[in-house]
Amino acid sequence: MAADKALAIVVRGTDWSETSRIATLFTREFGKVRALAKGGRRLKSNFDVAFDLLTVCEVVFIRKASGLDLLTEARMNEQFPTLRQNLSALYAGYYVAELLADGTQDYDPHPPLFDAAIQTLRSLGKGRKPNPLTPFPRKEGGTEPKTGIDTPQAPVLSPSPFRGGVGEGLQPQPTPPSPLPEGKGDGGVGSPTSGNGGLDLAARVSAFELVWLQELGYSPRLEACATCGRERLNPTARAFFSPSAGGVLCPECGPAVADRRMVSGESLETIRALSAGGAGPELPPGVRTEVRQVLGYAVSCVLGRRPRLLSFVDAR
Ligand SMILES: [Zn+2]
Repeated sequence: MAADKALAIVVRGTDWSETSRIATLFTREFGKVRALAKGGRRLKSNFDVAFDLLTVCEVVFIRKASGLDLLTEARMNEQFPTLRQNLSALYAGYYVAELLADGTQDYDPHPPLFDAAIQTLRSLGKGRKPNPLTPFPRKEGGTEPKTGIDTPQAPVLSPSPFRGGVGEGLQPQPTPPSPLPEGKGDGGVGSPTSGNGGLDLAARVSAFELVWLQELGYSPRLEACATCGRERLNPTARAFFSPSAGGVLCPECGPAVADRRMVSGESLETIRALSAGGAGPELPPGVRTEVRQVLGYAVSCVLGRRPRLLSFVDAR
């Protein structure tokens, strides 16, 4: 049977047996692929990655007519080690993984979403490429490639957000949270103290959510009423916004929609600018809070539930 090659982000990993692992991969070429990596838990295996969450790898896999595909090769392409140095950035990275794992269908490719995820993870964690690329298969006695976020160097995280979800199986033994290193306060994405080298994590996460919404066909309508289509006469004025209706609402349609909320013109303009790839590196605090709430509602509406990592992303 012919094998397929792809560039993939590991968005979920679950232990399957004492030696094997199930990896959920979001690939650029094929979309989401769930594959069994036989021997994927052994140190000396056909895989030079441990399928750590958020690792980018080049994979070869064989499609199965039913059930899990079979992963035959994987080699690490890129990791984002600095995500481990900032808990807010790490949660934001996990959130990206959750949206890719739970918001997309198997074999439904979205190359722009893949590219946006990579760009977001780089901006959150300032990713680096290994140099040179670890050869495949790894030489006997060679040094182990640096593993990802579940290494001992990673911040010790509460297992609660990962039960049954992103990172399932990464922390089989519940571990109490430990204090963060000094100066690495967990300000949350919504917090002014959440800076990561000057980057506004809220802007990065929001921009990714907007690509995710657009790729899934739920880009919020901002220029005209999402119900009747009437154009907004004053695009800078505040307006009703409804995730279920899919965008802003005119004064006539708004009162009839249950999940409407009034959103400031500044926040709506910021969302529009983020959709277009704009908006500065820092969002004003009031706008940041409102934009996070609006987009969090919009994502939850599409997903059919509140993302598990969302409250950690927006923690204050
Ligand atoms: Zn209307």
